[in-house]
Amino acid sequence: MNSCDKCGNPNIIIKKKQSGQKLCKDCFIKSTQNKVLKDIRKYNLLEKGDNVLLGLSGGKDSVMLLDILNTLKKRNIIDLMAVTIDEGICGYREEGIEIAARNAKKLGVEHKVVTFKEYFGMTLDDIISKNNVKEGRRNACTYCGVFRRWIFNRVARDEGATKIATGHNLDDETQSIVMNYLEGNIQNLTRIGVKSETRSNRFTVKIKPLREIPEKEIALYVVARELDVHFAGCPYAGESFRAEVGNFIKELSKEHPTIMYSTLRGFDKMKPVLKREFSQESIVGVCENCGEPTVARLCKACTFLTDWENE
Ligand code: SF4
Ligand code: ZN
Repeated sequence: MNSCDKCGNPNIIIKKKQSGQKLCKDCFIKSTQNKVLKDIRKYNLLEKGDNVLLGLSGGKDSVMLLDILNTLKKRNIIDLMAVTIDEGICGYREEGIEIAARNAKKLGVEHKVVTFKEYFGMTLDDIISKNNVKEGRRNACTYCGVFRRWIFNRVARDEGATKIATGHNLDDETQSIVMNYLEGNIQNLTRIGVKSETRSNRFTVKIKPLREIPEKEIALYVVARELDVHFAGCPYAGESFRAEVGNFIKELSKEHPTIMYSTLRGFDKMKPVLKREFSQESIVGVCENCGEPTVARLCKACTFLTDWENE
């Protein structure tokens, strides 16, 4: 029967390939919200009174997370503020910022925009044009990731946030696992998870409440909820190894629809062993230049910046 498994409504909007479950619009929205809230409880991601800083790009993942975390804010369980990072990607980021601001305003959530330019004196576009001239340099996402993590951590501390929430989904997380495995980055693997473990009180705990939601279901959720979302893709995304791995996993998922879940579950079982065997108990100090936590003399962001100054 082609009707909703929960309420019998004949207008189904999804038939899940993994489980065969069929749902109508309302039941899909409800069950997705319940799944995220259940994971928040199961993994102990939030506690009453947490001051949550949400990374809000305006894309579907973070807008969906805003929608769901706002239900906890409305019930006075958490405080919520949204931050959008403007990396300075001309022709792309401007629209995302507007959409992020509209979403936050609609829900009455405090919203702040912070830029690479104000913290590092240059935009991501500047960084890329500077580095494209040399062969063998890292791609845009490596720089972007390092500088973004730096900003999130700094802003979270300045704002007194107790958790940083990001919209990483099942596809993102599976990509990270496969990518780091293929590159032999076992140290990085030991740090992948639904909740970061703080090695210093200068690091704010990061949580990923959408880690078990496939990207396709997030896209369907925002359409079903008629949320205002930035659908454009970052012009630098296509260059990354992550994108290649993502395409490979998507291709495999066509014939093997449960492959992302099994990769995640298998990894989560292996992780304690990996941590026991491979995590380095390095002492976390502070960067000589900026004061952010790091295990080296300089944090990664300052290492890039000083390398460029010395060229
Ligand atoms: Fe930054 Fe890469 Fe994401 Fe673009 S795709 S915003 S460059 S991390
Ligand atoms: Zn630094």
